[in-house]
Amino acid sequence: MSAIRTTECRAPLHEHPGRAEISVNGEHCVQPVIYLAFVDDWEVRGNGTGDPRVLQFEPMRKLVEIFNNYGIRGSFNVEVMQQLAYRNLQERFPELKVIADEWEQVVLDSFRQGHDIQLHVHPQWWGANYEGHGNWTLDGDWSILNYPNLQIRAMLLSGKQYLETLLRKIDPAYACVSFRAGSWCAAPSDSLLPILSDLGFVFDMSIVAGIRYDTPQIKLDYTQCEESFAPYYPDMRDARRVSCSREPIACIPTNSFSGARIALFRRDFGKARMALRRKIDGLRNRRIGALPPLSRGPSGDEWTNKSESGAIAFTKRLLKRFIVGQTYISDLAQLNYAMMRRMMVNIRRQAARSGLPRVPVILENHTKDIHDFTDIEKFVADVAHSPDVKTVTLTEIADGLRNGTFRARTA
Ligand SMILES: [Zn+2]
Repeated sequence: MSAIRTTECRAPLHEHPGRAEISVNGEHCVQPVIYLAFVDDWEVRGNGTGDPRVLQFEPMRKLVEIFNNYGIRGSFNVEVMQQLAYRNLQERFPELKVIADEWEQVVLDSFRQGHDIQLHVHPQWWGANYEGHGNWTLDGDWSILNYPNLQIRAMLLSGKQYLETLLRKIDPAYACVSFRAGSWCAAPSDSLLPILSDLGFVFDMSIVAGIRYDTPQIKLDYTQCEESFAPYYPDMRDARRVSCSREPIACIPTNSFSGARIALFRRDFGKARMALRRKIDGLRNRRIGALPPLSRGPSGDEWTNKSESGAIAFTKRLLKRFIVGQTYISDLAQLNYAMMRRMMVNIRRQAARSGLPRVPVILENHTKDIHDFTDIEKFVADVAHSPDVKTVTLTEIADGLRNGTFRARTA
């Protein structure tokens, strides 16, 4: 499925048996093995809206079924602050206990089938208030970096302990070893990486090279990252920078890519058509008195940059998207099949250029945003049949970093 022009090398490579030497668009490289991690951030909407059964439980079961059909093990970064809030308030609101119990059941079922579970934290759930009928008020700051050190430690520790207590019922050796920050907020920070390494995390995957947000909730700038693809040892106070020396924790960027303008246009057109169809279905249901579907919750516009409102800004945004090109997070829920193929072309090209024999690559996904599994299933089938791509869980990546299978670079 790669569009990269490659040519086989005539001489065998003695130091890496089984690996071919290739030419990538004229550059001479060694063909690496790509270890692809299918990662999903598992949560409701950032403002607490949306029914967990619709946004999490049902699509996670479906995704696990797809992975199982192709012999692939996925990884789920489960958002634990939400679950802890449900547990805290379940005595007063018994309906929360029903949901929290099912949450555990779905997580345990997936884990039992070989899929990995790791930590994701949205700190806005700190001190969450519930008024009943699915209405949450989340007043906490959206960035973990804006909390005092003791609170950061408390959130990470309670999340890690919660998952380890839950999953060690099935696998006594289970450990919570990787982290992705809610809303990608991980740098710069004097405390986040030191606390993570102190608590035994092996790597962080919160950096996405090329993204920048300036919204009421989220401010971050990852446009000047020193490593956009391969594992690295980070500057312990700024994960956007590569350290000169080995550090107690590694970073692996969540993959991102640019280009794919025609595919992007088709995606946006398809999305608009689907939104219209949902609207028509909703109106028809109301007219015939059918029960409304369980809530998906309004997503809000937490990802729209402040400078991008108004007609001129809208035009600028369109120009940037379709003419200049922009950075896309490799988030399967946001991509159509053509964009996923484009993403893999980029991954293969970057992997070849990295000079590494084996390179772990971390994808993103959000069950809450998947409306149709067709393209994801097609992509999973492609990956399952690609000889140069193996799939790995986050735990396997952590093991590989520890035992030297995967190399993290220094500056
Ligand atoms: Zn999240």
